[in-house]
Amino acid sequence: MAYDPDNIFAKILRGEIPCKKVFEGDHVLAFHDIEPQAPTHLLVVPKGQYVSMDDFTANASNAEIVALFRAVGDLARQAGVAETGYRIIANGGPHARQDVPHLHIHILGGRDLGRMLPPAP
Ligand code: AMP
Repeated sequence: MAYDPDNIFAKILRGEIPCKKVFEGDHVLAFHDIEPQAPTHLLVVPKGQYVSMDDFTANASNAEIVALFRAVGDLARQAGVAETGYRIIANGGPHARQDVPHLHIHILGGRDLGRMLPPAP
């Protein structure tokens, strides 16, 4: 899948639309999800143009990969959810119902999140 530079997170990265920023580094931006599904719901995105985890792990530099995952751990600790536990989700592609085609890692925590997936139909 080709990268769409008009996706909403590309616009946030270019500063064309606002976000509630919690962290910015050379390779990473993190902000609050606009429709939080838990008391803590952050999105951590690479600044580079990667559609999905598949694209990112195939094509990103080691520095970009380290920066993204280091930020996830650091942000979870800063948000105060590391002790009680949290879930990270990176939806990729149609079967995972990815809505925004720019890689993003959700950090969810602050309450019991239940089982990982509903029972299979
Ligand atoms: P996904 O289904 O994994 O692609 O998730 C996309 C997420 O982006 C959803 O949780 C949305 O609530 C969130 N989202 C969409 N637009 C914005 C925005 N402008 N700022 C912050 N989060 C957003």
